[in-house]
Amino acid sequence: MGKLGGFLQIERHGIQQRDPAERVHDFHEFLLARPTEELQEQGARCMDCGVPFCHNGCPLGNLIPDWNDLVYHDRFSDAITQLHATNNFPEFTGRLCPAPCEAACVLEIREGDAVTIKQIENSIINRAWDEGWVTPQPPRRDRETGQAVAVVGSGPAGMAAAQQLRRAGHRVTLFERDESIGGLVRFGVPDFKIEKTVVQRRVEQLVAEGVEIRCGVDVGGDISVEDLRASFDAVVLATGSRVPRDLPAPGRELDGVHFAMDYLYQRNRWVARELGPAPTVQQPPVEREITAAGKDVVVIGGGDTGADCVGNALREGARSVLQLELLSEPPAHRPDDRTPWPEWPLKYRLSYAMDEARKLGVGEQDYSVTTTAFVADGGGGLAGLRIAHAAAQPPFDPIPGTERELPAQLVLLAMGFLHPEQGLLDQLGVEKDARGNIKAVTPYTTSVEGVFAAGDARRGQSLIVWAINEGRQCARMVDRYLATQRDPASNGAAVRAEDDGLLGHSDADEGPEGPPQHVSPGIAAPE
Ligand SMILES: Cc1cc2nc3c(=O)[nH]c(=O)nc-3n(C[C@H](O)[C@H](O)[C@H](O)COP(=O)(O)OP(=O)(O)OC[C@H]3O[C@@H](n4cnc5c(N)ncnc54)[C@H](O)[C@@H]3O)c2cc1C
Ligand code: SF4
Repeated sequence: MGKLGGFLQIERHGIQQRDPAERVHDFHEFLLARPTEELQEQGARCMDCGVPFCHNGCPLGNLIPDWNDLVYHDRFSDAITQLHATNNFPEFTGRLCPAPCEAACVLEIREGDAVTIKQIENSIINRAWDEGWVTPQPPRRDRETGQAVAVVGSGPAGMAAAQQLRRAGHRVTLFERDESIGGLVRFGVPDFKIEKTVVQRRVEQLVAEGVEIRCGVDVGGDISVEDLRASFDAVVLATGSRVPRDLPAPGRELDGVHFAMDYLYQRNRWVARELGPAPTVQQPPVEREITAAGKDVVVIGGGDTGADCVGNALREGARSVLQLELLSEPPAHRPDDRTPWPEWPLKYRLSYAMDEARKLGVGEQDYSVTTTAFVADGGGGLAGLRIAHAAAQPPFDPIPGTERELPAQLVLLAMGFLHPEQGLLDQLGVEKDARGNIKAVTPYTTSVEGVFAAGDARRGQSLIVWAINEGRQCARMVDRYLATQRDPASNGAAVRAEDDGLLGHSDADEGPEGPPQHVSPGIAAPE
């Protein structure tokens, strides 16, 4: 465990970031690295609880107390072995996860006191890359099965599924419609949260392990589902949840009202052109440029997507940025009656982007606001927005007498996503749930034989940590299916039980293994 009584002697250090006034002038990451001694001290605060609630808080079941202790003892190379046992891409979650593990940490019973789990995770994987400890892990030659799997969609779910399946010895082709691998981590999340070289080196690892990457291929369009089924023994659908929620108010058609993702794609492509890395296939041409430079920008939607729009608009030099949220402002502290520890607290969190906007004096966030109309400028463009105070309960109707108008030349709609695009699902004939997501008949297994699903396409728009977890668990189901195909007498699990490529932590969700088992390589204490 960490230092005996360490949490009583050592204060939690918050996560340090670059000064907002400085960082808004570039696209580099804003998280600051910390010295090893400070990380060791923070690791020492972990109590190695008898019931480590952090495990349950983490959808991947990361072995948190184990690597906290290893960091405390300056054993970073052992710590990365533990971290990789449950998480293919800890640098994604270390930078981007909202850290439900910290909300569930036993020390968080005193609000704001949790072990800095996310920072420790990020520092372990950053050190591992710096030291050259992250290497390709192709399967042994004698483990090659010759069976072929198509993974459709290369977000974190598709990447994790592809890596696990390849390490288990299958021939894996990862299909991606966009010009580069990474899904929303590449084209939604901005570089100042995760530089794309961080994603690209994982792509290189996948290639070195033997995954075939096919970018610029729209499955269901460029390649038919009949060809796909004929060429592969199994198919994993990891196409994300990409249909955005619209706002059908009068004036919606005006030039200047756009979906957030259209803007974020353009910004991420612009940064890729300026800073790299180069795409795998050519970027598509920009059809209609969306820019915030010099404009009054209104972002409708108070979540992560909205915050990333605000961050980009500030870096483009917007005149003003206002982020609107329909729901009322959450309380400043954990509401114990609604979301008691160790649940994820529904409380106010200042986003990195709103912190920047306020420090620059150009932006604000407003709650309980509903949009009643978009105002035209007389030439087909947008001049403003009509808003009103929203009732506290659904359907959040405008309260009479509270209407007012705001100037806006750009409005970005960031109100969430409904479900995956339906075209490919319909062509394959997979069953869907009531929300339009792919229905898993048994965990990660669709209604069509040999077709599996993982990530946002299955569970709805969620988090990177869940996408990685789903990709891993789905890979396990595919591997079992393929084992049964090779040997119909087997039950799949027995045939592949010894495969260390797939061993690791099992699921905390609806995974095939039931409750977490925390199987890991087991790190011996030093002599
Ligand atoms: C702007 C934004 C910011 C976010 N920030 C965070 C954050 O900070 N932290 C966090 O935890 N989560 C964040 N999320 C959520 C997170 O990014 C997603 O939950 C996660 O990326 C889902 O992974 P996925 O692999 O299921 O799908 P996606 O990442 O959506 O990837 C799906 C991929 O499938 C491809 N595809 C779809 N159809 C086809 C087809 N027919 N043929 C070929 N390819 C196809 C798409 O092009 C895409 O690349 C954010 C989401 C958004 C929109
Ligand atoms: S709950 Fe917090 S203190 Fe306890 S083991 Fe997990 S990280 Fe350490």
